[in-house]
Amino acid sequence: MKKYRLETRCIQSGYQPQEGQPRVLPIYQSTTFKYDSAEKVGALFDLQAEGDFYTRLGNPTMSAVEQKIAELEGGAGALLTSSGQAASFYAVFNICQAGDHMISSSSIYGGTYNLFQKTLREMGVEITFVDPNASDDVLQAAFQPNTRLVFAESLANPTLVVLDIERFARLAHANHVPLIVDNTFPTPVNCQPIAFGADIVVHSTTKYMDGHATSVGGVIVDSGRFDWSQGHYPELTEPDASYHGIVYTQQFGSAAYIAKARTHLMRDLGAVASPFNAFLLNLGLETLFLRVERHCRNAEKVAAFLEQDHRISWVNYPALKQNRYHGLVQKYMPDGTCGVISFGLKGGRDTAVRFMEALKLAAIVIHVADARTSVLHPASTTHRQMNDAELAAAGISPDLIRFSVGIEHIDDILDDLRQALEASQS
Ligand code: PLP
Repeated sequence: MKKYRLETRCIQSGYQPQEGQPRVLPIYQSTTFKYDSAEKVGALFDLQAEGDFYTRLGNPTMSAVEQKIAELEGGAGALLTSSGQAASFYAVFNICQAGDHMISSSSIYGGTYNLFQKTLREMGVEITFVDPNASDDVLQAAFQPNTRLVFAESLANPTLVVLDIERFARLAHANHVPLIVDNTFPTPVNCQPIAFGADIVVHSTTKYMDGHATSVGGVIVDSGRFDWSQGHYPELTEPDASYHGIVYTQQFGSAAYIAKARTHLMRDLGAVASPFNAFLLNLGLETLFLRVERHCRNAEKVAAFLEQDHRISWVNYPALKQNRYHGLVQKYMPDGTCGVISFGLKGGRDTAVRFMEALKLAAIVIHVADARTSVLHPASTTHRQMNDAELAAAGISPDLIRFSVGIEHIDDILDDLRQALEASQS
């Protein structure tokens, strides 16, 4: 297929109907697929033939969406998972097990931090967290002989730290390990980490990709570029006894990593997406470009509005000119960042709560990054058990408000902010 522009890929990639077939991607709501011979089924099981046989390992609706996302990110293949958490876990655990070590940026989503800090540690994986803005020397010092990967977020949730992807890729590759980038917030519309050297990309598709807050999901995209034979990855370069001794790099070539994630981890752990959720995700992807553009334009206007209001103490939005990451934004996401903004309200915790409760259009939800404007005050909700000192240690000030700008008319969003700011002062 011709390599179309991103807007066109959002709509046209993945499902290619043949003569007389449905125009819209069908939902193959079936756990299993019929074959006429035991020999064919055996070949499928042994990974000697291609085809769907059980939805945990593959399904036509899901495959079409995987192909679309791979094409959006510029990857060789993709695997849908039941959640973003599952995508991050599989992406790491596919090549890093007990006795191995990994490096992660400390500016990552709290759930991913817990996954690494608690669960992976309990499974015997050693982790070093690094400040993504640390010098090359400090980052280099984090590598160990058993380091298997580096993980970071292109645009971190909730700190909105922008990653210097090329620098991280260079350091990872100099140490013969891949760079895994969580690209959830900018989406491939605004940033394509593979083009800057990332080897694996993960997403919580729950956010902008689905875009309507209908389904929890995740995806792993393999660039197909990392040379597994140059590092220490016996799980990819040596025979897998559970598949009669196949060697992933020999059998699947540049798709070795993603093939193993599917045939080994999805087979054994089973955090599978569903055909129906994949269908909904595909609908979301069709309008991803339009929505992300609108989210960003609206968020830029909200950030500018907040900046000039005397009741606001600070605004963190990377696209603002005076933001610390503005230079990296110009390089990695020049057309826009995301719709999420954080800011502080003078008056602290109580004023922030009054402000949030006075909002009428923006709803208080835990979620971010869907079509509807939403708001969260971590100090009184997700982090309410922490006192001010503990919040500071977590990088969350008591006045921090996380505002996820939706795609409604900008004047309605600004009117809502204006009236809630008024109400917060009483
Ligand atoms: N990565 C990022 C950047 C996120 O923001 C989230 C969720 O908020 C996740 C991963 C986890 O995704 P999910 O909630 O789909 O499991």
